[in-house]
Amino acid sequence: MSNKKKLYIETYGCQMNFSDTQIVGSIMADHDFETTENIAEADLIFVNTCSIRDNAEKRIRARLREFNRYKKQKPGLIIGVLGCMAERLKEQLIEEEKMVDVIVGPDAYRDLPRLLNIAESGQKAINVILSADETYAEIEPVRLESNGVSAFISIMRGCENFCSYCVVPYTRGKERSRDPETIVNEAIGLFDKGYREVTLLGQNVNSYHSESGLDFPGLMEKVASISPLLRVRFATSHPKDLSDELLKVMAAYPNICRAIHLPVQSGSDAMLKRMNRKYTREWYLGRIGAIKHYLPDCGLSTDIITGFSNETEEDHKDTLQLMEQVGYDYAFMFKYSERPNTLAARKYEDNVPEETKGSRLQEIIRLQQKLSLASNKKDIGKTFEVLVESTSRKSVEELAGRNSQNKVVVFAKGNFKPGDYVKVKVTSCTTATLKGVVADEIEN
Ligand code: SAM
Ligand code: SF4
Repeated sequence: MSNKKKLYIETYGCQMNFSDTQIVGSIMADHDFETTENIAEADLIFVNTCSIRDNAEKRIRARLREFNRYKKQKPGLIIGVLGCMAERLKEQLIEEEKMVDVIVGPDAYRDLPRLLNIAESGQKAINVILSADETYAEIEPVRLESNGVSAFISIMRGCENFCSYCVVPYTRGKERSRDPETIVNEAIGLFDKGYREVTLLGQNVNSYHSESGLDFPGLMEKVASISPLLRVRFATSHPKDLSDELLKVMAAYPNICRAIHLPVQSGSDAMLKRMNRKYTREWYLGRIGAIKHYLPDCGLSTDIITGFSNETEEDHKDTLQLMEQVGYDYAFMFKYSERPNTLAARKYEDNVPEETKGSRLQEIIRLQQKLSLASNKKDIGKTFEVLVESTSRKSVEELAGRNSQNKVVVFAKGNFKPGDYVKVKVTSCTTATLKGVVADEIEN
C-alpha cells in the first residue's frame, strides 16, 4: 500500500473544467498526492465548480453538504472548492458553507500546495487572484478518467467577449493563448502513448494568437500535421471569429474532424444585440453557408438560450426557424439563468416568466430531436470511418466510437478495440446514435 495522501476530485461544468482538473491532478501528484475514486478513503476532497447557471451552483452546494458527512467521520479531512464558483463567491463561500477549508480560483492552482499547508494548520485558505498570463503551459495533465483514445488539450484561457448574460469573463479572467510549442508537444506525447484524437479547447478558439504571431488556423495545421492517424477537433468557436481561412485548413486535412460547434444562442437580431453577441442572424447564416461551401459533409451543433430578457414569442419563433434552416445535428439548450453582476443582471430585467421559459425550452428540445433524427436518418446507407472509443454502454458485444462529424456509432465488436479506426456502414439509427456493420477493415 502506498503512503501517499489520497485526493478525491469531482468536476462540474464545461470541458475546460475537466481539463483543469487534470492540471490540478498533475500539480497534486508532484506533491505526493494520488487520486482515488473512493471518496471514503480521501484525505482531501476537491470540487471543481461551475457558475454558468444557478442550478449548477445549487447542485454543487448540495454536494458540499454531502461531503460534510465524511468530514464529521474524519475530522482531518480537507475540503477545497476550485474553479468558477470559488472565483465568483470568494470568501462569501467560506462564510456560507462552513465545511469549506480552501478556495482556489482557476488561475491559482500552482499555489495549491501552499494553501493546503495553511488548511492543514487549521486555518481557512484562499487564493482567487486572476492572472493575465497563466496558461499552465508546461504542466503535463494527469489523464484522469481517460479512455486512452481521446484527450482534451487546453490552448487558451479566459474570455473577453462579455456576452451580457455570461459569468465566464468574470470567473476566468482575461483571454490568453498558450505557447504553441507546448501544445504541439503535448499532442505528440499523447499520440505516442496511443491516443488517436485531441480536442483543442478554449472559450473562443478562433481568437487564439500566440506571442510569436501564430493564429488558430496555423496552430491547427501544426497539430494536424503530427500524423494523419491523429484526429483533431476544437471547441468552442464564436461565430464572429470563424474565418474562411480556418475552413480552408480544415478542408485540406482529412484528419481535422468535420464537426463545428457554433453557438448561436438566439435566432433573433433583437436578442443577439441584447446578448452582446456582436453578430446578426444574417452574419451567422452567412458563416453556416461558408461551412457548407468548404466542408459539405460537416456536422453542426450549437448552444441556445431561451427566455432571455425581453424575449417575445416572435423572437422565440425566429430561433425555431433558424434551427430548421441550419438543420443542426445536435444542440445544448438552456433556460436563461440570470447571473449576478453580469451586464444583463445590471441592465436588463429577467422578465420572461419561468413557465414561459420552460415551455419554450420544451419546444426547442422537441424540434432539435426531430432535426437530430432527420440528420441521422440521412446517414443510413453511408459508410464512415469510426474511431473506436469504448465498449458500448448497452452491450459488451458492441463497440462505440465517433465518426468525423462527431456522431456516436455503435457496431458489433468483432476483433476491434478502442483506438482502432473501423469503416462502418450505417444500417439504422435513433435520435442519439447511428448503428452499423463493419464495412471494411482499415489498417491501423
Ligand atoms: N465560450 C463558449 C461560447 O461562447 O460559445 C461557451 C461558454 S458557456 C460555458 C456554454 C454555454 O452556456 C453558452 O454557449 C450559453 O449557451 C450557455 N450560457 C452561458 N451563460 C448562460 C446563462 N446565464 N444562462 C443560461 N445559459 C447560459
Ligand atoms: Fe461567455 Fe460569451 Fe465568453 Fe462564451 S464568448 S464564455 S458565452 S462571454
